[in-house]
Amino acid sequence: MVESIAERITNIRSNLPESVRLIAVTKQVSVDTIRAAYAAGIRNFGENRIQEAEAKQAQLQDLPDITWHLIGHLQSNKVVKALKQFQWIHSVDSLKLAKRLDSLAEESSCSPNICLQVKILPDPNKYGWSIPELMTDLTELNQCQNLKIKGLMTIPPQGLDNLQTLSVFEKTQELAQEISKKNLSNLKIHELSMGMSEDYNLAISAGATMVRLGRTLFGERRIK
Ligand SMILES: *Cc1c(COP(=O)(O)O)cnc(C)c1O
Repeated sequence: MVESIAERITNIRSNLPESVRLIAVTKQVSVDTIRAAYAAGIRNFGENRIQEAEAKQAQLQDLPDITWHLIGHLQSNKVVKALKQFQWIHSVDSLKLAKRLDSLAEESSCSPNICLQVKILPDPNKYGWSIPELMTDLTELNQCQNLKIKGLMTIPPQGLDNLQTLSVFEKTQELAQEISKKNLSNLKIHELSMGMSEDYNLAISAGATMVRLGRTLFGERRIK
């Protein structure tokens, strides 16, 4: 028997610690399926493209208590839209982008929730700070007073085994602690956005507070 979306959501939710926020990643997922997930109790949705999200959000305005999370790379010419459409931006991956978000957030009197995207291992296919780059930029990030910088986000490189993947998540957790110890007033890093369909159990064992799940909830996406 094929499991319904509601059944999958209930099963996965029941295996997550209460404190872990489940973000349903709905890229390439239809509005009807988003509604089914909503009916099953999901209130946090993740999208990786501004335009795709905009079209869906327009059709979901009758569901006012959704929290939208941007999880894909944000181009600087789309920052204003991102601020309008998303309460969380997990993919802040450079000081330049953070500063632009900060000044445009001030102009539009909003204060988005932010995760800083880090690369624990070198990965040419991903955006984000390396650890030394991030440590260098902390002082300036701390000055971005319109951003609520709440966490770190990471995506391990492809092709790691479980132990290597776990180590990436643990190092992300250690990095968050190291940053917190610096007592920078605007850098209260309590959230760890890590874990996708293949590796969320490892991420949770390393302290993830938000998991971003697509395929395990909605099935395989078509290849892009
Ligand atoms: C697509 C995507 C996910 C979800 O991935 P699945 O493997 O489908 O669970 C999570 N995070 C980001 C940044 C993504 O782009």
